[in-house]
Amino acid sequence: MISVGDALKALLDCAGPLPVRREPLGEALGLAAAEDLLSGERVPPFDNSAMDGYALQAGTGLRRLEVAGDLAAGDVWPELPPGKALRIMTGAPIPAGADAVVPLEETRSGPGWVELLRVPAPGAHIRRAGEDVAPGTCLVAKGQALRPADLGVLASVGLAELPVRAPARVAVLTTGNELVPFTETPGPGRIRDANLPALCAQARALGAVPLPFPRVADDPRAVEAALREALEAADLVLTTGGVSVGDRDFVKPVLERIGAEQVFWKVAQKPGQPLGLWTWRGKPVVGLPGNPVPALLMVEAYVRPALRQMMGFRHLFRPEAEAFLTDGFHKGRPDGKLHWLRVVAEQEGSRWRARLTGPQGSGILSSMMRANALALVPEGVEEVPAGGPVRLQFTELAEDH
Ligand code: AMP
Ligand code: MG
Repeated sequence: MISVGDALKALLDCAGPLPVRREPLGEALGLAAAEDLLSGERVPPFDNSAMDGYALQAGTGLRRLEVAGDLAAGDVWPELPPGKALRIMTGAPIPAGADAVVPLEETRSGPGWVELLRVPAPGAHIRRAGEDVAPGTCLVAKGQALRPADLGVLASVGLAELPVRAPARVAVLTTGNELVPFTETPGPGRIRDANLPALCAQARALGAVPLPFPRVADDPRAVEAALREALEAADLVLTTGGVSVGDRDFVKPVLERIGAEQVFWKVAQKPGQPLGLWTWRGKPVVGLPGNPVPALLMVEAYVRPALRQMMGFRHLFRPEAEAFLTDGFHKGRPDGKLHWLRVVAEQEGSRWRARLTGPQGSGILSSMMRANALALVPEGVEEVPAGGPVRLQFTELAEDH
């Protein structure tokens, strides 16, 4: 049985980076930039009007000017003669001969003329070429997740294809004769498969591509066939159930038979003790417990950082904080295990307060649903008194937060 810290490190050690590829900008949301993305252009590309109003030359002292014409966004005007004004719309290029814009609200006008109610300063209401983005600016750093606003800026400088790390393909195998698809009504002794949709959603939420292998029967041949297919198709394989020591737990023996190397099996933690890690031709296979709480929790705590590393993200871990636990917590007996508590964390002034989501049993999936953080009670700590300190890992905040 290894420690939580060693187990995480072992998984990260097998989570090598996926290849770099060029992805159309429209498909790159959520992926990690594989290199620094530099602008080759200026934004805006030319001086333009920040207001609907009149373009003119400042400093002439004229209050009433002849209007030479109209300029809409998208059009150009060759040159403005001295002493004249040009009706101009937001975004239209400032013509040669003009160096200020007077907003419409600061004018009176009639046919062919405009009167200035305020005298403009040179440069007033002009957006300068390159004031937003100068050429050579690093817009997105290597390892940063591409967000909607990043894509907008990258689009505006014409970076239509982006070098990104490939999204990880994650096979999700749920094992158990008792499982039926969640779309069906279970017969006697059967239950709906909660892990398949939840784990696929966890993969999707971090930008990976889930490959579902539903309800593999508790039968060595079925487990072997599904595992072989999954290992062929995926970059990382998740299995749920069948990884303990029950008579029908075939994941471990089948992995051994097909030549997978065991990295570890059993971690000093609760829940999630029967967690296992194997590699098959370098690909990680994570054997998760069948109970939905530890299955989801292990994906959050171990698999998510590993997949982020494979996908080239700079930050692997969610934000953490110190908190005080409003409810007391007692392990029952010294067990040498790290306990993961599901908690609701709330800010209280400059401190975080955490309360348990309710009963913490492995089968209580709603305890996971209500949580926004995990609280860690380390191996050597037997009890946290009410109001005592715990370390929090937020499960809703982004790694880049
Ligand atoms: P196992 O690890 O296979 O012994 O399963 C432990 C417990 O989790 C049993 O009560 C299973 O019925 C339950 N379980 C296993 N897989 C799933 C699943 N995909 N969805 C919901 N419950 C499951
Ligand atoms: Mg089972």
